[in-house]
Amino acid sequence: MAGLLWQIFNIIKEVINRVVKLPELILTLLGWRFSKKLKLRIVILRDERGLPLISNELVVPAFDEARRILGRGARIEVEPAGWQVVTAPHGAPKAALDVHCTDGAWRDDLGLAGTFFRELMATTPAGTLIGYGAPVTVFIVRSITTHNGCSLGPATDYVTVEAGSMRNSRRLLVHEVAHACGLWHTRRPNNLMVSENPGEEVTGWQASIMRTSRHVTYF
Ligand SMILES: [Zn+2]
Repeated sequence: MAGLLWQIFNIIKEVINRVVKLPELILTLLGWRFSKKLKLRIVILRDERGLPLISNELVVPAFDEARRILGRGARIEVEPAGWQVVTAPHGAPKAALDVHCTDGAWRDDLGLAGTFFRELMATTPAGTLIGYGAPVTVFIVRSITTHNGCSLGPATDYVTVEAGSMRNSRRLLVHEVAHACGLWHTRRPNNLMVSENPGEEVTGWQASIMRTSRHVTYF
């Protein structure tokens, strides 16, 4: 039940944010591009035996890639939320280690996985009540059923990325973060939002949508 309230609350926050920032969206499309910030928190889960699913060193390149692509393409400075990479302090339940995507990410969020994720997110400052400046949290999980990474878009403040896939694609993480900031898929070659093998290009329109996300702020 709590999960459902969170989803509804997040969607309300998103709608209010988008309405309030409509003038800024228009200005941004016209070329208003002062530097903005996005706080990113990466949480590596530990398995049932307490072992982190991936080492910090393997995650840092994905963080750096997010910083490079969003800095260049959208003038968004990606900052670590408190610290760069943190491993979840205790073993995660199987429901949070092995998650679903198009076949049930909503259900996961309403169940044990969502509760576990929200508990972890509550341990560090999470922006204001209206969601302005809330960090995006990336949970590194063990497996995702239908994809290598997954996001419920603006309905949640977190995304999931498969530990094993981090080794093959350093752009998967920034692709999922972009979903959380309101972007959807495109077929443009070499674009960040191509669903398979994301590229690095961000269009002016995409930059404007991301820059006016509730996660992206001036301060
Ligand atoms: Zn995607």
